[in-house]
Amino acid sequence: MKSIEDINQKISRGEAAVLTAAELKRRIAEGEHLTVSDVDVVTTATFGIMSGTLALLHIHVSEPGTFHHAEKAWLNGVPAIPGPCPNERIGVVDLVVFGTSRANPSYGGGHLFRDLVEGKKVELVIEAAGIEISRKVTLSELGLARMVTTRSAFMNYQAFINRSQSTVKTIFSVQGISGPYREVTVSGCGDINPLQNDPQGRVIGVGSRVLLNGGMGYIMGQGTRSSREHPNLAAFADMKEMVPDMMGGFVTADGPECITSLGVAIPVIDNTILDSIRISNAGIPLPIADIEDRTAFTSSHYGEVWDHTDLVITYSPEACLQCEPCQAAAICPTRAIIPGEKIDPLRCVHCGTCIRECIGDAFYGDLGTITVDGTPVPITCRQSSREHALRICDHLKALVTEGKFHLMGKCGNLW
Ligand code: SF4
Ligand code: SF4
Repeated sequence: MKSIEDINQKISRGEAAVLTAAELKRRIAEGEHLTVSDVDVVTTATFGIMSGTLALLHIHVSEPGTFHHAEKAWLNGVPAIPGPCPNERIGVVDLVVFGTSRANPSYGGGHLFRDLVEGKKVELVIEAAGIEISRKVTLSELGLARMVTTRSAFMNYQAFINRSQSTVKTIFSVQGISGPYREVTVSGCGDINPLQNDPQGRVIGVGSRVLLNGGMGYIMGQGTRSSREHPNLAAFADMKEMVPDMMGGFVTADGPECITSLGVAIPVIDNTILDSIRISNAGIPLPIADIEDRTAFTSSHYGEVWDHTDLVITYSPEACLQCEPCQAAAICPTRAIIPGEKIDPLRCVHCGTCIRECIGDAFYGDLGTITVDGTPVPITCRQSSREHALRICDHLKALVTEGKFHLMGKCGNLW
């Protein structure tokens, strides 16, 4: 056995053996016998739509005495909730902004959060006793900007299918899920998800240090709808430390949603935790639910989603027909397509929507199929990006290896 303090001392000396979850699983699959003395830290991550995300912002509005207290507020048109402190007559406002709040059908809280983290000016408008005050603000001016997640890193989240004849508009698809049994949409990064590698919460718990959207943060405990069978995490971090391309907005068939990422460094303290990290995609159940009632009626496994499929969607400008307007660009949920030129790698989340929407054959990526009741059904939309989660695992590995990220042992259990 090793203690977290032992591992932190090795990190300080630059001697810690750090592997990403994907590296460790690959070496095991190749037949290597790894023991607790061979590895100290394994980095895990997830990246995708996480509706349960909010920001707590403290903003200077005007001189003291200018207004009594804010009753309503918007940031770039996204509705915000003033309070809980009334901040009476002091010219400031505390705001809670949900990642799922919407300014319009294609811009919501997730887009706003990324715009702030990119350093863009955003427009604040408040209403107070009939007075309207507006001003431009940037993240660096805010007294406090803290992101809180209420449901991150869900373990084996459901895939969705439509068994009816009609197309269902839902946040679990970009174009709507057509039926019956014509397509399936998926979420979750499989065997590199933090909780998938510590499903009992042996080392991940209240107080564990994490990377939330690239910023140093901490686990608060379980999130909403978390259970022993399908656990998830609640976390917080300072938005001023976050990285734009590790977060953002995503426009679904039912409006804007919020992309959030979470990276967790797992200390390999004993054989039990090393054994749990051996889990592979094919060993992780993938419940499949009907989108109408959200109740799982069958299951597959994550091997069908992430093994032998293309993690990255590619674009061939020479195959582009230059149609006007470009339907793929119009529907891309992250507005990542520059028609005739390229996909913006810092915006694309490799969901695969453009493959089906493109009139030509300009986009390519094998998303695979999921066997539902014995029949292979094509995956048409991935709402998590394993490619970006792998990138976060690499980033976190580099931070730990360079001594810039030390582990914080849990101070309380998830359950
Ligand atoms: S839909 Fe496809 S072929 Fe048409 S402009 Fe867009 S990328 Fe090119
Ligand atoms: S895969 Fe296509 S539709 Fe999805 S984000 Fe990337 S460019 Fe946009």
